[in-house]
Amino acid sequence: MLKLLDLDEPPAFHVERPNGQSPYFLTCDHASARIPRSLGSLGVSAEDLQRHIAWDIGAAGVAVKLADALDAFVILSGYSRLVIDCNRQPGIPESIVRKSEATRIPGNEVVTVEDAAARQQQLFLPYHNRIRTELDARRAQQRHTILISVHSFTPRFHGAPRPWHAGVLYNRDTRLATKLLQHLRAEPGLVIGDNEPYAVSEATDYTIPVHGEQRGLLNVGIELRQDLVATAAGQTEWAERLARVFVSILGRGDSGRTCGSATS
Ligand SMILES: [Zn+2]
Repeated sequence: MLKLLDLDEPPAFHVERPNGQSPYFLTCDHASARIPRSLGSLGVSAEDLQRHIAWDIGAAGVAVKLADALDAFVILSGYSRLVIDCNRQPGIPESIVRKSEATRIPGNEVVTVEDAAARQQQLFLPYHNRIRTELDARRAQQRHTILISVHSFTPRFHGAPRPWHAGVLYNRDTRLATKLLQHLRAEPGLVIGDNEPYAVSEATDYTIPVHGEQRGLLNVGIELRQDLVATAAGQTEWAERLARVFVSILGRGDSGRTCGSATS
């Protein structure tokens, strides 16, 4: 099989706080804009590769800082969603896109079955298998786990400004999302989307339906507006806010009593 990554390139995923003691478990599916050297630039300009089409600007910084604040395991994808989207079921058109928003992705226009399999096996699967391994181990240890999936969104979409500072995302399991929405909306001056600007579904997402809902874990997705988290200061502000809000909803989750209240 085609080897995508050279030995000197970063691995498919990166974990921080692997021994994080809290129940919080953070994922960042779109953490990186990196393209494997073997794929060149996919025919995309350097400027476009810094845009949202390649990655979630600011999301990795918030996820790592939030993990620090909560003493949580956090996993970050190592490569751009333009290579293969870690939050889409492999095989569907949205997994390896030929066009993102209005930008053609020439390197994805002719992707053979073998090419797609290489991306899936060398980038998508290592990331998700690491999540599975960790979640399996926690289940075996009867550790309570709360899945938080961190993303970011563009301030404008097709020219129209988006009003939300952040969005709370969920699929069928609304237990945690409902509380997070209430708490964030109680913060002064914030406009918080309810499954906006995106809603979670099996067709459009992978991490929450597969790792959260199929396991019955408390879960929520967070979307942050990129202009608010583009700088380290903005990332710190949002990580601190989210940590404070999660702790006020669920506690640090490090006692049985607190865990019990999480699902009430
Ligand atoms: Zn994302």
